[in-house]
Amino acid sequence: MENKKIQNPLHQYRDEGYEKQLQKAPGIQEEMKPVPDCGEKTYKGSDKLKGRKALITGGDSGIGRAAAIAFAREGADIAVNYLPSEQKDAESLLELLEKEGKKVILIPGDLKDENFCKELIEKANKELGGLDVLALVAGKQVAQEKIEDITTEQLEATFKTNVFSLFWIVKAALPYLPAGATIVTTSSIQAFQPSPTLVDYASTKSAIVAFTRALAKQLASKGIRVNSVAPGPIWTALQVSGGQPQDKLPEFGQDTPLKRAGQPAELAATYVLLASEDSSYTTAEVYGITGGNHTT
Ligand code: NAD
Ligand code: MG
Repeated sequence: MENKKIQNPLHQYRDEGYEKQLQKAPGIQEEMKPVPDCGEKTYKGSDKLKGRKALITGGDSGIGRAAAIAFAREGADIAVNYLPSEQKDAESLLELLEKEGKKVILIPGDLKDENFCKELIEKANKELGGLDVLALVAGKQVAQEKIEDITTEQLEATFKTNVFSLFWIVKAALPYLPAGATIVTTSSIQAFQPSPTLVDYASTKSAIVAFTRALAKQLASKGIRVNSVAPGPIWTALQVSGGQPQDKLPEFGQDTPLKRAGQPAELAATYVLLASEDSSYTTAEVYGITGGNHTT
């Protein structure tokens, strides 16, 4: 057995700030400096999702990519959704996991479109031969200093991506989800400690918390559990493509008790836990992964 040395979480991942860099949303993670760690070299599975069939939205990059890698290595067949402009990140994920013999289906498309959400579920269900995990990770975040600068276009795009798509996807998926299926949404520390520059985004993340809790109670009698992951500051493409004001990047995550931003890899185990039978008595919960800025 490998004798693994205990690690200090303060320094387990990059503990410095980041250089300013700006990409057009939604950004390409492969072009970030440094590229986020999604567990490509480190995540080891142990059959926790063997035989499961999972859809992961936002799975090309960041937190969704970390969940996708973990789900596949835990034995799930996966379908991954992302925007067509992110094909490069999606293909590197496909290449990585296919080399390991995993079943991965790529389904690009825009979640702001209700019809696409329906097609996504039909396609995922058909190509995976069923569906029993929904990991809803996709999200849009555009920082604005003043509410006057939040256009109706931005407001609608943020709410459609972050909130409406959850309704459309779950409604389309319910006929296929068996007892034992799990839904994991992605809220944020922003639902609990909102930043002044993220009024619209933080509002969507609060809505996701309410959605998760209400839906969990509604679906409990069907044996379907619904939980949420609430990340703190995590180094991802979202942050370098307008999610943060540029001058915040050098300090990004440094104000948490653990004094650094998190990496997507540090969230993967929680998505696995909430998707798997290991969390069989857990529903309507929100799991904070925030570096210490707790959610309640
Ligand atoms: P990311 O940019 O790597 O992932 C977000 C993904 O959302 C994109 O890859 C894209 O595929 C998808 N997406 C956006 N708009 C879409 C649309 N219209 N149609 C289809 N897909 C779309 O960034 P991330 O930080 O890993 O984001 C994942 C989730 O985590 C988001 O819900 C985000 O709000 C949430 N979150 C992130 C942080 C953070 O600090 N990074 C903190 C709290 C919550
Ligand atoms: Mg992406």
